[in-house]
Amino acid sequence: MKRVYNFSPGPAILPESVLQQAQKELLDFQGTGMSVMEMSHRSECYIAIAEKARDNLRKVLSVPDNYHILFLHGGATAQFSMIPLNCLGTKTTTDYLHTGMWSGKAIEEARRYCNVNVAMSCEDSQFMTIPSQSTWSLDPDAAYVHYTPNETIGGLEFLTMPDFGDVPVVADMSSTILSRPIDVSRFALIYAGAQKNLGPSGITIVIIRDDFVKEPLPATPGLFRYRDQIAQDSMYNTPPTFAWYLVGLVLEWIETTGGLTAMEAKNKRKAAKLYKAIDESHLYRNRVDPHYRSWMNIPFQLADPKLDALFLKQAEALGLSNLKGHRSVGGMRASIYNAMPEEGVDALVTFMKSFEKEQA
Ligand SMILES: *Cc1c(COP(=O)(O)O)cnc(C)c1O
Repeated sequence: MKRVYNFSPGPAILPESVLQQAQKELLDFQGTGMSVMEMSHRSECYIAIAEKARDNLRKVLSVPDNYHILFLHGGATAQFSMIPLNCLGTKTTTDYLHTGMWSGKAIEEARRYCNVNVAMSCEDSQFMTIPSQSTWSLDPDAAYVHYTPNETIGGLEFLTMPDFGDVPVVADMSSTILSRPIDVSRFALIYAGAQKNLGPSGITIVIIRDDFVKEPLPATPGLFRYRDQIAQDSMYNTPPTFAWYLVGLVLEWIETTGGLTAMEAKNKRKAAKLYKAIDESHLYRNRVDPHYRSWMNIPFQLADPKLDALFLKQAEALGLSNLKGHRSVGGMRASIYNAMPEEGVDALVTFMKSFEKEQA
């Protein structure tokens, strides 16, 4: 068996010990004689698994008691639609920050249901920097302000949270959740697809403050009503049971490796090493404003794109996988989520240096 360093943006690398534990428990979960995949979601055994994962998320992320935690289907994309359906209340206008591909998709979806005020857009800089907050046009009467703290494709990240005043803040944290401690009390709603930093695809975490759960728009299907999902403990219908269990294992792994403070220190070091290697080279370049460079997704281009194919081929041969950049950005992208060991980044940096030397 050979495991590679998988730099995929998502579904992404998982901690090896989590996969090993899942493998160990695959056929016979703790003496039940069945796999977690085969259990009823209503069974006592499964409910214990589900509750433990939810309690661990509350503990690891310090989620206050006045927030509900949901485990839902449909990815972050389902949340783009559910949020306006559920959280407008009596209002009709919302604020969105346009920082890249994913916030763009959230805006497109929200436009079906409400007036979207794009309070800030990074389009002028091709999403390479964030304009000063003095130029934003936030509406103090908006139902909420939606932003994407980390843009997975462009590699643009808010390293500190902007001040949104009293307007409820909604954040798509798909590619940054659990990468460091955050102050959950500053958010009305946080959502994150699991397949970047939390577990496998198929499940999405929603953390929602109780006063932000409003009367949904009348046509909202039952499955997409936060209120009903809260009342049913995320089991309005059959949830993605195995994915939920795996998220629980990832949370235990975070706890045993030192929690979010240790995770933050490791992630910061990993990103710093890779940006340093890029900035010191003549072959590689990252165009994002250093004040807003992502810790999680690091795109970089080669000075001569004709070398891309050779770079990828040699990297792959060394077990450095999935470095090809998103088609909209080109070049390379290294996604270095929580589960990417520091040795993986070291191996990538070593390869990048030797590749550059060879080309000189
Ligand atoms: C991956 C990603 C999404 C889309 O997630 P799906 O689970 O495919 O719907 C949305 N937002 C961000 C920031 C992402 O990284």
